[in-house]
Amino acid sequence: MKKNIIAFLSISSLLFSSTLLAAPEKDQQKPLIILDTKIQPGSDTSLQWNSGQNFNSLDWNTPVIVKHGLNPGPIMCMTSTLHGDEINGIEVIRRVFKALNVNEMHGSVVGVPIVNLDGFLRNTRYLSDRSDLNRFFPGKENGSTAQRVAYSLFNEIITRCDLLLDLHTGSLHRNNVPQVRANLKLESIKEIIDGLSDLTIVHSEGNAGMLRNAANDIGIPAVTLEIGGPFLFDRKGVEEGTESILNLISYLEITRKFSFFPQAKATFNISTWVNSDYAGIYMSDVSIGQNVSKGDIIGRVADPISNKEDIIASPFDGKVIGLALDQFIHTGFAIAHIARQTDEKEIDSSPKLDESLPIPDVERDD
Ligand SMILES: [Zn+2]
Repeated sequence: MKKNIIAFLSISSLLFSSTLLAAPEKDQQKPLIILDTKIQPGSDTSLQWNSGQNFNSLDWNTPVIVKHGLNPGPIMCMTSTLHGDEINGIEVIRRVFKALNVNEMHGSVVGVPIVNLDGFLRNTRYLSDRSDLNRFFPGKENGSTAQRVAYSLFNEIITRCDLLLDLHTGSLHRNNVPQVRANLKLESIKEIIDGLSDLTIVHSEGNAGMLRNAANDIGIPAVTLEIGGPFLFDRKGVEEGTESILNLISYLEITRKFSFFPQAKATFNISTWVNSDYAGIYMSDVSIGQNVSKGDIIGRVADPISNKEDIIASPFDGKVIGLALDQFIHTGFAIAHIARQTDEKEIDSSPKLDESLPIPDVERDD
C-alpha cells in the first residue's frame, strides 16, 4: 500500500494553512527553557524531572530527553508510561529520538519516556497511592499525591509544548491495534491527524482528568496513541507508531525530509466495548484489527466443568481495535473494542461510554 503513496518533498506548506509548521528560515532559534534549564539551539540533552513526592534522601528522578533544533519551529512533546505497565511508548520515543539530528531540525522534540516511574518500577499501572495518574490532570499544587505529580508534570513540562502525543497501550490482558484517539471536533488537532500516517483514527472526547484533555483545554493540541498491550513489547506496533510519528515530524517541517500527503485514513466516530455475559475460558475467534459484521462470532466462553459453550457475537459492523487475550474471565469482562463509522449527526450524541455510571479504568485504557 505504501508503494501507492506519492511522497512530496516539503511542499505541504504550499498546500495547507497551518499553525504548527516551522518558522521561516530568517528567524533565529532561541534557547529553550525547561525544568529551569536553558538549552541552547542545536543541543541534544537529557534532563531530570522530579515531582517532589518522595524523601529527599531516597528519591528518583524521571529522565526528560530534549532535542532542541538549530532552527526555530514547533516544540513537539511525547509522553509515555503514565500507566506504569505500558512499555511500548518507551521504545517508540527512543526510536524517534535516534532518528533525529538537531543540526537539521526546525523545532524541538521533548520526550518523557517513563512518566510514571513509580508504577513502572513496581510493574503496575498505578501510582503507589493506588491512583490512576491519567485521571488527575492538570493537577493541583497542594492536592493528593496524584494531583501533585500531575500538576508538576503539567506545569514544568507540558506547558512548554506546542503539541503533545501521549503514548499508551491496552490494559489488563487486552491488546490495542495501533490507533490515534482524538477529539475530532477540535480543529486544532487536524494537522496532527493529517501528519500521522497510516494509523487508525478513533474519535474519543476523553474525560476530565486525562492529560490530553487538560492540554487541549489550554490550547495545546494533544492526541493519544495506543499501541499493543501492557507489559509486552509489540515490535510491529512500535515500528508502525515510530514511522507514523516521524512522518508527523516531517509533515510539521521539523525535519525537511520526505513527508506524505495527508491521506484518507480509517476513521471511526464511535467505539464501544463488548462485554461478556458469560464466565469461563474465553477464546477469541477474531484477530486484532479485523473488520467484523453484525452477528459475526467474536469469541466463545466455555464453562470448564459443565463443558457448556456460549458464543459472543458482534452487535454491529465495525473494526476490532482492542481485543482481550484468551484467558479466564468473569461476566462483564470487556472482550472486544469495536470501532465503527456512523453519519456525522451521531458524533454529537455518541456516548462517552456511559456518562451515568463510572467506567472501570481498564475499559478506558487511555
Ligand atoms: Zn494507558
